[in-house]
Amino acid sequence: MQYGRPDGTFDIVPPVPCGRKEARSFVNDSACWLHVEAVFRKVCKAYGFAEIRTPIFEQTDLFHRAVGDGTDIVAKETYDLVTRGGDRLTLRPEGTAGAIRAYVSERLWIERPIAKLLYIGPNFRYERAQRGRYRQHHQAGVEVLGASMPSIDAEIIDLAVAFYKALGITDLTVKVNSVGTKESRVAYIDALKAYAEPLLSEMSDDNKRRFEQNPLRMLDSKDKRDIALLENAPNLVDFLDDASAEHFNKVCTYLDALGIPYEVDHRLVRGFDYYTRTAFEIQCKVLGDKALGGGGRYNQLVEQLGGPATPGIGFGLGIERVLITMEELGLPRPGGNQLDAFLCPMGDAARDAATTLASILRNAGLTIDVDYLGRRLKAMLEMADAGGARYAIVIGDDELAAQTASVRELATQTQHTVSIADLPAFIRG
Ligand code: AMP
Repeated sequence: MQYGRPDGTFDIVPPVPCGRKEARSFVNDSACWLHVEAVFRKVCKAYGFAEIRTPIFEQTDLFHRAVGDGTDIVAKETYDLVTRGGDRLTLRPEGTAGAIRAYVSERLWIERPIAKLLYIGPNFRYERAQRGRYRQHHQAGVEVLGASMPSIDAEIIDLAVAFYKALGITDLTVKVNSVGTKESRVAYIDALKAYAEPLLSEMSDDNKRRFEQNPLRMLDSKDKRDIALLENAPNLVDFLDDASAEHFNKVCTYLDALGIPYEVDHRLVRGFDYYTRTAFEIQCKVLGDKALGGGGRYNQLVEQLGGPATPGIGFGLGIERVLITMEELGLPRPGGNQLDAFLCPMGDAARDAATTLASILRNAGLTIDVDYLGRRLKAMLEMADAGGARYAIVIGDDELAAQTASVRELATQTQHTVSIADLPAFIRG
């Protein structure tokens, strides 16, 4: 009996050994993942962020409260479970709610007036699976808690852009909007409902539901007819309170100063109820209408989840979509399993000695693999090549007796006899 992967999931496995023709897509290649994650951590470090890791499941109610009952994510997409003990838990569909829950549980505001957190991990949404949309996807994201000035909003967008650029992804479109405050949205929602009501019979069932449960979300609809019908709907920006309008203007001014091109998109509300003021999304043409990442400000969320009134802002980006974009753009495949050397022992005595020699070389900081199959020299040299090794180290009875190794530089096929004692320094180069 063989078991398949659950729908909407994929395996991340080691890269295809060098020299093999068949390529593995970036999304399935663990070296690509390690590279993207390392770049994300490096860029975040430059902006003063520290890592947080939270459970992949939380109490179901957390997501209802934070993300919102009327959002697609909570209404249609969560993986909910009841434990044997009767607890109602949900696999996290996004990263912010858990991060803020942890901020409150751990009382992080006591140790630092401003918390700058980064996270990387899987999220779960019961979506219609397709390329770029999965039931388990991974997000890298950041949250800044404790600061409300608009310069932080611009800095977060700057960080996201810096990350994509560090990976070689250019041709980005940054879309920004302000969703105001809960209070300033009341008048807007009335105006939106008044506009939408006569058109409702022509709208999708989802938008009919949204009209009743959470009208702002009608603007999220990806249905072409809904989009056309809402084309002339009132704009949120015309209903903003003065402070939110000023905040938004300042964010735009900072983005100008940072040299980040952006578009103001009045329809951009994003799929979460917790946003206040700034909302943004980043796209790249090769992904079509699927966003590379997005985020926004959430000034009430910490308080809503039982913490002190604390402003916050964050963003999350899908790692799969980053990898798909890199591949579509034809960027070089990151990583690869490069070895410094591959040890080729010939004969029983050499095989015994190889284990110790590999350990000595590894302890000297080198990446070393060894042949475990007892094959002929030609096959071992092919393995060394396929593993991306720079050198093949051949030892047999003669070498053991002389305490030397025969070292072959694979790129040039040049051969050297090196004493065992000098091997670490020789391989290090
Ligand atoms: P969201 O949490 O919906 O704002 O999404 C943030 C980012 O995560 C998106 O811009 C995508 O890059 C990625 N993302 C969201 N949902 C999925 C999914 N189902 N599959 C793959 N990536 C996703």
